[in-house]
Amino acid sequence: MFLFRLITVKLILITIGETLSGPLSNGNHAVQLRADGSPPWSYENTEEWGNNYEQCNGRRQSPIALRTERSLWVPYLNLKFGNYDVPLTNVTLMNIGYTVQFQVPPTENGQLPFITGAKLNDRYEANNVHFHWGSPTSAGAEHLVDGYRYSVEMHIVHKNVRYGTVEEATMNPDGLAVLGIFLEGVNNPTVSYPGLDEIFNHLPEVREYQSTSQLNNTITMRQLLGNLNTKVFFSYSGSLTTPPCSEAVRWFVFRDALPVSQNQINKFFQIMDQNGQPLLNNYRPVQPLIKNSNNYFNDLIELYAEVNIKFPRDEERRHQYEPMSAHFHWGSPTSKGSEHTIDGHRFDVEMHIVYKNRKYTTMRIASKVHDGLLVVGVLFKKVKDPNIRFELLDKIFNSLPRVKTYKKSVLVKYPLKIADLLGNVDTNVFFSYHGSLTTPPCYQSVLWYVFRDAVPITEKQLNNFFQIMDVHGEPLHNNFRLPQSEGNRTCTAAGVANIIITFPLI
Ligand SMILES: [Zn+2]
Ligand SMILES: [Zn+2]
Repeated sequence: MFLFRLITVKLILITIGETLSGPLSNGNHAVQLRADGSPPWSYENTEEWGNNYEQCNGRRQSPIALRTERSLWVPYLNLKFGNYDVPLTNVTLMNIGYTVQFQVPPTENGQLPFITGAKLNDRYEANNVHFHWGSPTSAGAEHLVDGYRYSVEMHIVHKNVRYGTVEEATMNPDGLAVLGIFLEGVNNPTVSYPGLDEIFNHLPEVREYQSTSQLNNTITMRQLLGNLNTKVFFSYSGSLTTPPCSEAVRWFVFRDALPVSQNQINKFFQIMDQNGQPLLNNYRPVQPLIKNSNNYFNDLIELYAEVNIKFPRDEERRHQYEPMSAHFHWGSPTSKGSEHTIDGHRFDVEMHIVYKNRKYTTMRIASKVHDGLLVVGVLFKKVKDPNIRFELLDKIFNSLPRVKTYKKSVLVKYPLKIADLLGNVDTNVFFSYHGSLTTPPCYQSVLWYVFRDAVPITEKQLNNFFQIMDVHGEPLHNNFRLPQSEGNRTCTAAGVANIIITFPLI
């Protein structure tokens, strides 16, 4: 029975590529010999994988360096989890030489856990769960987030139900969907995760190559996600991160990491390969992004987030301030024009929604007192794909040509709520500070809220801004004020935005 299970597991593994029989000593290098006779590979010569596995030289290989700044926020696309809350029947952990993993068994209702939604056209059933880790002195996640490598990356591999086997799935671009979950080692975690702890507690029992251990307590797939924010994740089309590197994977890599006790993480460093040597740093280096490609894969990674429009967040401010107007700052055909920069990055356009403290009767008064105004800054980023944009703002952007000349105005009939102007930003993440108006007279009267996330704007819409003319009939470009240094808040001349939306909106 045991032998049977072992063989079954190995066969399934081989088909998905993250597999193998065991590493053999080859001089100083531990190499993986494949049970099906395919060539050996190891983490010590990742750059040579392509010699024997052609797909490892492919154009959309994983992992990659994920960058929030290069990512596009896409709203309303939630991953859905099926049977993730139903206990799994029995879970057997196994050391397979280059990772520790378990094949996902059916749940107590006889079905497999699955994911769907978020642009997945089919249902993807969970197949296996495994880990990538570092060493006592280095981190070992596969994907980087804004240049940072987390301690551990857990992969939950799912197979498209349209394909009978994982092997068949790897031959199709929509064959697999993999969830990437970062674990970060911390000294005194304030939360613990029963599902993950159950696995960590069994790691010492699978130290040796091909050893197995059955979990004592039932776990659910959901428990493996802990209290992770599953609404925010990077998604892109890539590959398996081990030979044969099949480009069959839709990746979903959650942005946030689960803090896990470093003592638990350390248990991974006891895992041994087939030579009885510690298995360390079992991750593939990041692979190049394909730039300027019009094909399937481009340099924009999609970052999905659930739209959560609640502004202002605290009720007190909501009643304290009333919206008065909104306006825009932009650059030129050759330069960007947001007023605020984030981590040194200037965005294409910045919208300001100006609120007045209700206790002051006019803007004139409010703009001269320290608690008079509240301004919300929303950043916009140009995207190539005209289908990716925030449609609620189309009417505004598309009306710009009608206000090209100075003092022209247009009434846009608009059943729009103020919150709609915020696009799809995560309203929970913003910069806030006390500052001044960015246009004269620059009184220090503004409580600023600038959202971190940028809203997509199409090239055509952006170009509409560059047609706007100033008082003299010249193109109005770069109507932003350079950021002011801390102690030097003198107000210098600045262009004035002349596209004003007046409230009340509906
Ligand atoms: Zn993996
Ligand atoms: Zn402004």
